[in-house]
Amino acid sequence: MPNKTNGVEVMKFVLASRNKKKIGELEALLGKFIPDVEILSLDDVGIYGEIEEDGSTFLENSLIKARAAAKSGYIGIGDDSGLRVRALDWAPGVYSARYAGEHGNDSANNKLLIENLKGISDRYAEFVCSLSVVFPDGREISVEGVAGGEIIDTPKGIGGFGYDPYFYYPPFDKTFSELTADEKNSISHRGRAVELMAAELKKIL
Ligand code: IMP
Repeated sequence: MPNKTNGVEVMKFVLASRNKKKIGELEALLGKFIPDVEILSLDDVGIYGEIEEDGSTFLENSLIKARAAAKSGYIGIGDDSGLRVRALDWAPGVYSARYAGEHGNDSANNKLLIENLKGISDRYAEFVCSLSVVFPDGREISVEGVAGGEIIDTPKGIGGFGYDPYFYYPPFDKTFSELTADEKNSISHRGRAVELMAAELKKIL
């Protein structure tokens, strides 16, 4: 499966995404565990059009995406992540990106989250990241990384994205927005999922 480039084994994956930033980030994260990883985008392998993410869990959605990417003939990777809040019956879950209606409107999503938690003392929440890998021969691996914390009413910090300014992480006494990228990767749902996936891949590659 690895391709040889200048005598070095390069392992090529296709991530079910067109977002170059996300691809670069995953390449760097996975590269910490598996040397010479190259992550291609759907565009790189000529897969166009939308992949319908209609699963009811993060895991289902990550598998749907990884299967679509594996149709390229390379190893497919799919990810799906979001926030779930215990006092809100684990919402927004798979609807995290469009909690308030419009896809990717972080400030509207955060506003609704804080409104819905008004007067509620249980603030436990967790970020979840599901990662799935599908091989062209049909083998499938899925893992899930979780980071637990608390939702606070007043945003803190300027880094990160999405729900980060409202997500307080007790072990660091900081919100995710106050962490450096390296600090966040070391404990985040995404960082943990990549670490778990790298361990699984090492067992079979
Ligand atoms: P995606 O699956 O990575 O696109 O994430 C879906 C949504 O979950 C994002 O639009 C964010 O609202 C939320 N989300 C996922 N990961 C994070 C994170 O690390 N920080 C803040 N919000 C996140």
